[in-house]
Amino acid sequence: MSAPPVVIVGAGIIGACAAAYLQRDGRQVTLIDHGEPGMGASFGNGGMFSASSIIPVAMPGVVKRVPGWLMDSAGPLTIRWSYLPRLYPWLKRFVAASAPHKVEAQAKALRALLGDSLANYAPIVRDANAGHLVHAQGMLYVYASDAAWQRDALATEIRRRNGVGIEDIVGGALKEMEPDLGAQVQRARLIRENGHTSDPHGLVKALIDHAVSRGARVLQERVIGFEDNGAQVTAVATEQGLVQASHVLLAAGAWSKPLAAKLGDRLPLDTERGYHVVVRGPEKRPRTPMMYVDGNFGAIPMDMGLRLVGTVELAGLDAPPDWNRAALLLKQGRALFPGLAACADDDARITRWLGFRPSMPDSLPVIGPSSKYANALYAFGHGHVGMCGGSTTGRVIADLVAGRAPAVPLEAFSARRFA
Ligand SMILES: Cc1cc2nc3c(=O)[nH]c(=O)nc-3n(C[C@H](O)[C@H](O)[C@H](O)COP(=O)(O)OP(=O)(O)OC[C@H]3O[C@@H](n4cnc5c(N)ncnc54)[C@H](O)[C@@H]3O)c2cc1C
Repeated sequence: MSAPPVVIVGAGIIGACAAAYLQRDGRQVTLIDHGEPGMGASFGNGGMFSASSIIPVAMPGVVKRVPGWLMDSAGPLTIRWSYLPRLYPWLKRFVAASAPHKVEAQAKALRALLGDSLANYAPIVRDANAGHLVHAQGMLYVYASDAAWQRDALATEIRRRNGVGIEDIVGGALKEMEPDLGAQVQRARLIRENGHTSDPHGLVKALIDHAVSRGARVLQERVIGFEDNGAQVTAVATEQGLVQASHVLLAAGAWSKPLAAKLGDRLPLDTERGYHVVVRGPEKRPRTPMMYVDGNFGAIPMDMGLRLVGTVELAGLDAPPDWNRAALLLKQGRALFPGLAACADDDARITRWLGFRPSMPDSLPVIGPSSKYANALYAFGHGHVGMCGGSTTGRVIADLVAGRAPAVPLEAFSARRFA
């Protein structure tokens, strides 16, 4: 009888990249997801492979800025107050993570994880014949106000210190590069090393379809727990039964917390909910993926149209969507790109989406073994950078399963940092 497979719980970008790298090592892989592969957070995100996204969400001074954001109905952050008691322990850790020395260490760890994103996508994207979905055309941070430009100075300095190349693009040069941007935007910072996918869901599907063509199994079942022999996990328990496993990878995104607890780790995982609006056939659009720093949202040219992404909504996994947040993104997008038509919510050109970023309070994912079982691995909590971090995470997981030294130092990502 052949050895049992590596069983991956969760078929988002993290599970898909891990499957691809494990197969490159000759491993048998089974992916389990109760939904269709790629329909979690990996479905509707901005698709940016931002190797420069090393700035933790909790930056020095964040505590002072939060009340202003919350008072502003058009601000980038909202909280459902009924969720606050459950969120409180996470928020306490979030505030603690904003200390300057911690921010420096988090940025350094993120740079190690994200810096080789495109290079680590290259082989698995080539294997999956998905090169048409991945683009290396850089990314812009664009600014309207002096205040936003100045406020971003610390982030820019941290990026530079960590080896990110940044070019200032101003006035006419910016107009030439991005002719549809509103006249209020006169300054940008260009990061040439960044890339993006023009179809995040398409990319996950391509990776998983390729894995299946090479013998991977995909089970559409809900995982409810694990079986063990005291030292090792032996099987994954789903609502349908047991799936024998040589190793288990927990990559269930924002839903990983109760399953990690069953593997021996109580971890402060929560979700920063975010929204998108896609406008098909937009009259105006960016040429390069961009983050509008004043408004804290992204505008990305995608295969299906212009995708506007943003908002951090702290409301947990169960609260219904607040589609006002999506409407706001469209309104702000129209101000950024004058001439982009107004569309009613039910306009056939528009799609709206709510996604659940898997967020740790220190903006660092959990990658590495569980505290209790050496053959149970974690790869979740990638927050705002899971698309970017997917490729290197997948590679590192294959390293760990093979017993090789991981491609990236993992101390900063250990589950034990919260012990
Ligand atoms: C608005 C928005 C914009 C974003 N933009 C970007 C960006 O531009 N660049 C970037 O790098 N990142 C971005 N992100 C973040 C990125 O989308 C996430 O970090 C990433 O998709 C997380 O991938 P994942 O595989 O961990 O989780 P998911 O894609 O959520 O996958 C987890 C899977 O686990 C499954 N699952 C959960 N529980 C179980 C269970 N019990 N049994 C079986 N299956 C289970 C789910 O069905 C799901 O398919 C954005 C996120 C949002 C919301």
